[in-house]
Amino acid sequence: MKFDLHCHSHFSDGALSPELLLARAKEREVDVLALTDHDTIAGLFLAQKAADEYGIKLINGIEFSSQWGKGGVHIVGLGFRRDSPELIAAIDSQNLARASRAEQIASRLAKAGIVGSLEGAQTLAGNAYVGRPHFAQYLVSIGAVNNINAAFKKYLGTGKSADVKFQWPVMKTVIDWIHSAGGVAVLAHPCKYELTRTKMCALIKDFAIAGGDALEVVSGMQAHPVTEDLARIAAANNLAASCGSDFHLPGQAWQELGCFPALPEACRPVWELPGFAA
Ligand code: MN
Ligand code: MN
Ligand code: MN
Repeated sequence: MKFDLHCHSHFSDGALSPELLLARAKEREVDVLALTDHDTIAGLFLAQKAADEYGIKLINGIEFSSQWGKGGVHIVGLGFRRDSPELIAAIDSQNLARASRAEQIASRLAKAGIVGSLEGAQTLAGNAYVGRPHFAQYLVSIGAVNNINAAFKKYLGTGKSADVKFQWPVMKTVIDWIHSAGGVAVLAHPCKYELTRTKMCALIKDFAIAGGDALEVVSGMQAHPVTEDLARIAAANNLAASCGSDFHLPGQAWQELGCFPALPEACRPVWELPGFAA
């Protein structure tokens, strides 16, 4: 059985519709797929329809943004009830926070002489929630900067005029949301936060203490020693293990749907946890 428990559709920052995503999962012989869009479950309905057609088991998923110290971390929720009022309220609050940040970015840009950025970014975002990449694209599209990098360097990056600081909810809050909807909470891609190993271990420990259930031991085409190390850290913190591609768009071989090494034998797979297949 091939499980891919982390991927994105165009309901967040992925390129494909849920239907095309499921078609790709079928091609890549994925048996169990979790669609985990950022702070939204809007794609799950269409994903479920397509999954039924292709004979793929769909697990309800989401990737919540959370705060750990000064940095952002991502917590994947799996196997929750989609109609949970607590979960729906949580998603609303995350998106209100996103929307108010977008408004603040737009008003800072207006002060710098750039008008219409909120509407422009919204158009570029399509189905997804407006984020800094859409503002960056807008700045390029109107010729205010030459490329995306320059947009961050001049306006959107740390310390620049349209850099709006943002506090996500702490890990315990997010984990409680997921649990209240009957799901399991997974700390996503622990190697992507640019932490030293010591700090990463501290993060994983805090996640376990906050009630987290599993660690994403395999995220895309990572090196074997990394997988072995994360498997040991998961076990030491009594966490189960998850795996996923973090697929966003075709053409990125290191995070292609269904393509990543198997979980080490010693791991307790997240799909064996009670509540996973809810
Ligand atoms: Mn993403
Ligand atoms: Mn992530
Ligand atoms: Mn992701």
